[in-house]
Amino acid sequence: MTERRSGKFAHRYTNSGRIESICLTCFVTLCRCFTTEEMICREAEHVCDPEALLVSAQLEQA
Ligand SMILES: [Zn+2]
Repeated sequence: MTERRSGKFAHRYTNSGRIESICLTCFVTLCRCFTTEEMICREAEHVCDPEALLVSAQLEQA
């Protein structure tokens, strides 16, 4: 197993009944999925975007 983070995603249900998954590290919306299986799959595939991380780091300093 390679390095992976877990438990770093926020989930919320949209009005259209989809599950929205947001990475709490880089604040990217991964998906708006219909099923938890699909969501878990997207989360497993997700790699944080270094540029997005840079932006969020700059925002924290501001
Ligand atoms: Zn991320």
